[in-house]
Amino acid sequence: MSSLEIRDLHVAIGEKPIVKSLSLTINPGEVHAIMGPNGTGKSTLAKAIAGHPDYTITQGDVLLGGKSILEQEPDERARAGIFLAFQYPSEIPGVSIANFLRAAVQARMGEGEELDATAYYKRLYQKMDLLKIDRKFTSRSVNEGFSGGEKKRCEILQMAMLEPRFALMDETDSGLDIDALRIVAEGVNTLRGPGLGVMLITHYQRLLEYIVPDFVHVMYDGRIVKSGDKSLALELESRGYDWVKQELAVA
Ligand code: ADP
Ligand code: MG
Repeated sequence: MSSLEIRDLHVAIGEKPIVKSLSLTINPGEVHAIMGPNGTGKSTLAKAIAGHPDYTITQGDVLLGGKSILEQEPDERARAGIFLAFQYPSEIPGVSIANFLRAAVQARMGEGEELDATAYYKRLYQKMDLLKIDRKFTSRSVNEGFSGGEKKRCEILQMAMLEPRFALMDETDSGLDIDALRIVAEGVNTLRGPGLGVMLITHYQRLLEYIVPDFVHVMYDGRIVKSGDKSLALELESRGYDWVKQELAVA
């Protein structure tokens, strides 16, 4: 079985250690929620796995199907099936979503392989129907003047088109209104299945009312300090993160 395995991972930004000995295995079909207070390194973890150049892996390994991906460039990791949904997606004025997605799908294909336009549009419309997205949507410029919900819709459509094996979704604190939360949740629930593993980073227990995770992990100071099932998210909601910190201080 091809899992995403994070082994004793340490990540630094410049000289500053951010992620400290984090281990986690995500099997296909599983949804793992990662929760934790601001500044604990959740986004750093996701970006490091995707291969963002500002994040240095100083120790440990990330394996996909038993093979280390750390020597791979971000685009190779994407081709291998890792998808990073951006916390703050960029606007690309003048580039329609349809063309943007086409370029993204083409980029994921092997060298010398050409994406057939008819086949591409067929697949695009299939995915849009699946996600109940209006046809007019894809003629708009990528993220230009989009609401939070529309940005999320664009991101979910991108994920549907790329059919990743593992999606790293950073659905953070700011800017997620209830509309956007619902779009993300419906998208993930639609795409959820035996072929997709999800790392769902969220600050909000509320998102987990819509996407029921298989596992919940609490990240604090660069580490996973507690893991459990969905009831852990409820406990965090009622007791806050201070409770986890206090437990750590006692241990
Ligand atoms: P979280 O997503 O859990 O809120 P982040 O991974 O964004 O946490 O940040 C973890 C720590 O790394 C914070 O102290 C933050 O200030 C720092 N950090 C994040 N990105 C950068 C960056 N590009 N340059 C310098 N420090 C950063
Ligand atoms: Mg973050």
